[in-house]
Amino acid sequence: MILESLKTSKSAISQDNLQAQLGDLVDRATIYRVLNSFYEDGVVHKIVGDDGKQYFAYCRNCSEKSHHHNHFHFRCLNCGKIECLPNEMEVNLPEKYRTINFNGFISGYCSLC
Ligand SMILES: [Zn+2]
Ligand SMILES: [Zn+2]
Ligand SMILES: [Zn+2]
Repeated sequence: MILESLKTSKSAISQDNLQAQLGDLVDRATIYRVLNSFYEDGVVHKIVGDDGKQYFAYCRNCSEKSHHHNHFHFRCLNCGKIECLPNEMEVNLPEKYRTINFNGFISGYCSLC
């Protein structure tokens, strides 16, 4: 059920969002454990919002072995939704530096707001 929510959701989901969706069916500790095991298995990526909360988004354009998370995330100030933006960002790093994680955040208003 948690995987299904992540797959069908267009926006990133926090533990609290999931808890609200699933109600009393699943307890907090289970949600936390399941989300982190998806993260370790490379099914989802983790986003730390500018509100300090963790969000999880389904990896749509990743394969099992190669993850590309060089995209910005957008947080809507009105509806609170966090989305993965489709644009891939290139960051020019000094020679011999390697990117593993990229954490870029844009806040503003989404198309619906
Ligand atoms: Zn990924
Ligand atoms: Zn919005
Ligand atoms: Zn993302």
